[in-house]
Amino acid sequence: MRAMKYCQHCAGPITRHIPPGDDKLRDCCLQCDVVFYQNPNNIVGTLPVFGDRVLLCRRAIEPRLGKWTLPAGFMENGESTLEGAIRETREEAGAQLQPEDCQLYSLFNLPDINQVYLFFLGKLHSADFDPGPESLEVALFREEEIPWDEIAFTVVRRALEQYFDDRRQTLFPVRMFDLRYDEQHTLRLSLLSHSHHKDGEIHH
Ligand SMILES: [Zn+2]
Repeated sequence: MRAMKYCQHCAGPITRHIPPGDDKLRDCCLQCDVVFYQNPNNIVGTLPVFGDRVLLCRRAIEPRLGKWTLPAGFMENGESTLEGAIRETREEAGAQLQPEDCQLYSLFNLPDINQVYLFFLGKLHSADFDPGPESLEVALFREEEIPWDEIAFTVVRRALEQYFDDRRQTLFPVRMFDLRYDEQHTLRLSLLSHSHHKDGEIHH
């Protein structure tokens, strides 16, 4: 967790207190009587599909430089989750997704690192890409071509595995997962819920 040293309003010293009515230590400025809350980050992204292939980006930045990932990044203030996911897809892959071609797909809670990942399934209409500064390359992969040993993040691997399973059923329910470290500091993924659809209700 990043530490603040100075108040962003008055540049006075930040101290750690449990505010009245609260039960957690918070960064406080006693001069302004302001509490600076730190809350989890939302990371929004897409699983872009073109025909029978899936778009992946090879990371040009740490962490996991050189590994493959889905386009995703931190949500900005003032945008919706879907707007953020489409923006990240444009910035990292140069790929254009339309809101009406996207549907909510996977939510991952990562409480140990204060993050929430949200992926939308998106249908691409063209294979025109342009890797942004955060990507070394952008490419489309069939299921058998996915570089499984070179996938950057557990959430990306899981979303991809889920997608190829779902495609065999031609059903794409929304699922929510928890990803937590156990006592051995190994990541454990558990499925918390998934939406139910009548057969054929969802087409992609
Ligand atoms: Zn202050």
